Amino acid sequence: MDILFLGTGGAWGVPEVNCECLICREMRKRGEKRERTAILLSGETNLLIDCGPDTRSQLLRNRVDRIDGVLISHEHGDHYMGMDELFAYKRNSPKGTWRPVPVYLTPETWEVVSPRFAYLEQMDVIQSHLIEPGKWFTHEEFEVFPFRTEHGAFAKGSVGVAIRSKDRQGREKSLVYTSDFMNLPEVPSEMVGPDYLIIQSFWLNEPMHNRPHHMSFQRAIRFIELLKPKEETFLVHIGDADSVPGDPANRNAKKYEPKDPLRPLSGGDPYPIPLNQEQWQQTVDRIVLDRGLPYKVTVAYDDLCVRI
Ligand SMILES: [Zn+2]
Ligand SMILES: [Zn+2]
Repeated sequence: MDILFLGTGGAWGVPEVNCECLICREMRKRGEKRERTAILLSGETNLLIDCGPDTRSQLLRNRVDRIDGVLISHEHGDHYMGMDELFAYKRNSPKGTWRPVPVYLTPETWEVVSPRFAYLEQMDVIQSHLIEPGKWFTHEEFEVFPFRTEHGAFAKGSVGVAIRSKDRQGREKSLVYTSDFMNLPEVPSEMVGPDYLIIQSFWLNEPMHNRPHHMSFQRAIRFIELLKPKEETFLVHIGDADSVPGDPANRNAKKYEPKDPLRPLSGGDPYPIPLNQEQWQQTVDRIVLDRGLPYKVTVAYDDLCVRI
């Protein structure tokens, strides 16, 4: 199984349109970007998890020549607005061979997605499959267990997934993908102790008011400790909404003041807010080391491919 991180950014991507904050300026200077978060799992077949507005460039860039299934975690635009791109696979299939792509999502999510994309089903581009939190389903070689996540009132059917599949040696491997969330209403045993964990890290520090119901790295530490991934944790859905000391853009609506910013356990100043990929990884490494966490935590970046 390969895990390809097609995008690792928050809902508006980084750098963001019309933003001159220090994070966006630094990313532009370095030529770095984070497109909307999506991952492609592949082995004999593949499964695309989330399908946002950057899907076209993500699939083109990575020369993805087939999509065998799609899972939509929740109803927010950054997770489904790219579904029209699936049409290209039908258009470019040999005449008479096409089979609709199964799209897995909860009934609540389909209720929001279908007024926009039901025509894809009518034209046999996709076929919707309703999934239920707490119930395993199978997509080709992937065993999938959806679990409920709390992501606010406008994402009622939001789910994460635990997935089992085989590695290159044929051994079973498991992975948990949380998507956007702030809390887990329950922690079913199926999601504890995966080999890999992919978790949202929208801010470094938990903000004073977490109104958008997202996960900060500060809060994610608790979930990493709770879920105990055995091999590696990947951070995704990274934004630019941390306030950076001294940045005039801190007055902008999207910037959040931290509640009690992460700082070394020995005291002293908070960890600096990372402005780019390298700084993100350095900061996360320091925090993991300072706290003696027995976990490998990797800050994912666009087009990172992990071969398992
Ligand atoms: Zn999102
Ligand atoms: Zn969301």
